[in-house]
Amino acid sequence: MFTSINPYSQKRIKTYRPDSTSAIERKLKQADRAFADWSALSLSERTDYLRKVGQYLTANKQRYGELITAEMGKTLKEAVGEVEKCAATCTFYADHAEAFLADQSIQSDRTDGPAEKSFVTYQPLGAVLAIMPWNFPFWQVMRFAIPGLIAGNVGLLKHAPNVFGCSLAIEEAFRECGLPTGVFQSLLVDVPVVEELLKDKRVKAVTLTGSGRAGSSVASIAGREIKKSVLELGGSDALIVLADADLDKAAEVAVKSRMQNAGQSCIAAKRFIIEKSVKKAFTERVLHQINQIRQGDPLDETTTMGPMARLDLADSIERQYRQTLAKGAKRLTVGEREGCNVQPMLLDNVKPGMAAFDEETFGPLAVLIDAKDETDAIRLANQSDFGLGSAIWTQDLDKAERLARQIQAGSVFINGLMRSDARVPFGGIKTSGFGRELSEAGIKEFVNMKTIWVD
Ligand code: NAP
Repeated sequence: MFTSINPYSQKRIKTYRPDSTSAIERKLKQADRAFADWSALSLSERTDYLRKVGQYLTANKQRYGELITAEMGKTLKEAVGEVEKCAATCTFYADHAEAFLADQSIQSDRTDGPAEKSFVTYQPLGAVLAIMPWNFPFWQVMRFAIPGLIAGNVGLLKHAPNVFGCSLAIEEAFRECGLPTGVFQSLLVDVPVVEELLKDKRVKAVTLTGSGRAGSSVASIAGREIKKSVLELGGSDALIVLADADLDKAAEVAVKSRMQNAGQSCIAAKRFIIEKSVKKAFTERVLHQINQIRQGDPLDETTTMGPMARLDLADSIERQYRQTLAKGAKRLTVGEREGCNVQPMLLDNVKPGMAAFDEETFGPLAVLIDAKDETDAIRLANQSDFGLGSAIWTQDLDKAERLARQIQAGSVFINGLMRSDARVPFGGIKTSGFGRELSEAGIKEFVNMKTIWVD
């Protein structure tokens, strides 16, 4: 049995019975059948459905927001914002899918072949298994599902068990908008079932958002089965503050980036790397911003940080905090913990070799790292196994662009909050994964880029 527990009250919300073997088989059959009809619809028919889903999410954002907050603890404001972002992404893809997936003609100059007319067309693959985490329980799913379904695929979702209510709510949203049975289904299954699903011939591809451990396992199986995979994994994003930065703005955004969602974001600024000459001034501003955070009941409008999502996650961040302190870092905040409620923490003098530098920290822990100059800052930023997002703060935009090219990451944001946005590709390098979500790149991950050559 799977039980979802409210992380703030620690009360049980609901217990779910795992899908039986026969239920899983029925869902696989339905997905296979649905693919034939769904992929035969015109692109504009599919985009109409997804436009409807966007409207439905907007109409139900409060109800869904409350469910997200109850299951994983983010503030209601953040949760409603997450649902709004999903709705906006439905509209984005409904508006742009036709252009993204249009046949691409190849001009023939007839010098090395007789091709009269050749073109590339983008066709769906079939059922895609989506394995998703709890930290953005709607957004992580929808940023795959919206483009994936519009392209003509069907989706099977294995969500994290603490957000199975969200998993079923997303399925409900698609159903209520009239999408045919089997186009999007939620599977209430455990990790061992995933291997069986990946081996099933009806599952054509897999996308996973989660930890490196899970990514490595899923990609190995997918590799063995010769199935396409996309991995959106962890990060330890650097936020570089150079001497000429707008320190007030940089500190405000740095703390927001690190502490939103109680620090549980793959693209949170996990390592603040600061040029020595402004370190003291920046640190004072960061402390000021941290002191503005109001922890408490995530349903309360005045709360700006809710609890962490599960006790084991709070245990992990506490361990990393203690290990980093034991290696010589300096504590700048009290940093107490009660169950899932972890106070924001700030550590100074953090260096390579310490847990908070080397590992991904998935909780409200900000760390300050000294850089001698901009070259040293880039060296430290790249001294990580991860390569997801990053940010640079400086008023010299030419310098910022030059340095941005040197950072080993999937994205670099200059003087702004690192975030995912439907207009631009999202994903990582190194152990942060491979493949891209969102934008034109995202809708083309799960398609057969088919060449049609007319001799
Ligand atoms: P996780 O333990 O890897 O879980 C994520 C999902 O994968 C869950 O549904 C989980 O199921 C499943 N899973 C775990 N091990 C598996 C395995 N061996 N085979 C198949 N499925 C498996 O990740 P988490 O700790 O909950 O989530 C936080 C992580 O996700 C962080 O590392 C974060 O950076 C990353 N993340 C990345 C992105 C991105 O876009 N790059 C976005 C958000 C989060 P169970 O829960 O049942 O184990």
